[in-house]
Amino acid sequence: LEPLYQFMVRVRTSGGVTTPKQWLALDALSDEHANGTLKLTTRQAFQFHGILKRGLKPTIQAVNDVLLTTLATCGDVNRNVMCSPNPHQSHIHEEVYALAGEISSYFLPKTTAYHEIWLNKEKVAGTPDFEPLYNHTYLPRKFKIALAIPPNNDIDVFANDLGLIAIEENNTIKGFNICVGGGLGNTFGNDATYPRLADVIGFAPKEKVIEVTETVIAIQRDYGNRSDRKLSRLKHTIDDRGLEWFVNELNTRLGWSLAPSLPYKFVSNGDRYGWLQGINNKWFYTLFVEHGRVKNEAGYTLKKALREIAQIHKGDFRLTGNQNLIIGDVEEKDKKTIEAILTENGVKDHAKLTGLRKSSMACVALGTCGLAFAESERYLPSLIDKLDVIMRKNGLENDEINIRMTGCPNNCARSSLGEIGFVGRALGRYNMYLGASHNGDRLNSLYKEMLSEEDILAELDPIIAAYAAERALEEAFGDFVIRKGLVEVTNRPLQVLS
Ligand code: SF4
Repeated sequence: LEPLYQFMVRVRTSGGVTTPKQWLALDALSDEHANGTLKLTTRQAFQFHGILKRGLKPTIQAVNDVLLTTLATCGDVNRNVMCSPNPHQSHIHEEVYALAGEISSYFLPKTTAYHEIWLNKEKVAGTPDFEPLYNHTYLPRKFKIALAIPPNNDIDVFANDLGLIAIEENNTIKGFNICVGGGLGNTFGNDATYPRLADVIGFAPKEKVIEVTETVIAIQRDYGNRSDRKLSRLKHTIDDRGLEWFVNELNTRLGWSLAPSLPYKFVSNGDRYGWLQGINNKWFYTLFVEHGRVKNEAGYTLKKALREIAQIHKGDFRLTGNQNLIIGDVEEKDKKTIEAILTENGVKDHAKLTGLRKSSMACVALGTCGLAFAESERYLPSLIDKLDVIMRKNGLENDEINIRMTGCPNNCARSSLGEIGFVGRALGRYNMYLGASHNGDRLNSLYKEMLSEEDILAELDPIIAAYAAERALEEAFGDFVIRKGLVEVTNRPLQVLS
């Protein structure tokens, strides 16, 4: 008898955009074949959890029927391409979103195997796959790309193998600063592994970005470590050989040199909640979705609300890199209907949420992830309830301090970029990290290990009180804990070549 395996299926959406029809299809599939919920991931993708083997094929076929795909959502290839999720906020967003889609399509693996296995396509004899970039052996490891538009770093551009920072000139995109070597995953007890932010190595004009991307991927393909998967991301290739070597190799292969990077400024890596009007005069509602879990429970029927909205919505849905959702392209006349549906279903108005909760992220961890050492998504909400008592006591209930938790150091919810970060060590025990920047350009550092909930609250109580009493004007929590010497500033700062 075969064990009753259950599977996770991930659906890619470059830049996180889906139509109402696609939303309804995913919603129905989650009821039919998965555990009745949808997970919005930290990389603007969807995840179904709890799919049994017999449900795999119909799920993947139904996903493809609505023009979405699970191709390259896993494996040693370029993964889902992230992009700041509000393309109609300005002309810049439209251009960047279009480029994200172009990059996503360009770097999909050219294979027929996916279609043969999942979509019942006939194998054509004598025509083996020809993959011009990944070749026979593909990449040593996964590869992640994200595009950011300053001043918002809402997709954590420095956490990616390749980050592209849009540089604007005269209301159009002049080009991108190129960042390489980000990746936050690491392994307890293996010092050769570590979180690392991408270095900013230069500037390329917009029309050269695909060429630069392809060349960066090719270097990683040729030089990445293929004997130890824990040391096989681009960050290791760069650290093993040196940043100077990497830039020289890139420029040599390109046949031209990147220009010095141009100035940019990020102010935050969080989302802006509520209504925003786009340049097309339509409206965008950013909705808080706690840890990206779209579900129904007593008094809070978010999944039902979004299904009802999808049934009448003429715009789109956009996943953010912070596990939230934007109901996009809404006509002025439809705003009230959407608000009414959210209210009827008990979906809390973001204005009633505390700053800490609005700035929280958690990976799935125990219950659905076999790699987890501790709870994350199912636990962080209750920890925030208790931390909010401390925040309120100090008048900080509206302060947006990034707080992130993962069940293991693979760092799917980017704990290393939390001003307060937790990584699970064992059931009910966490390492606590402090001191990341508020805009995602500095990693946090280890504060204490193996803390229980009681320890966490006891440690943070005086630190939060001190922050309320002694912070400088507009000083972020992550900067404060470093100024006060509670943790050392990270020994892996990102480099900017300019
Ligand atoms: Fe699983 Fe670890 Fe990723 Fe959390 S961080 S989802 S526990 S692999």
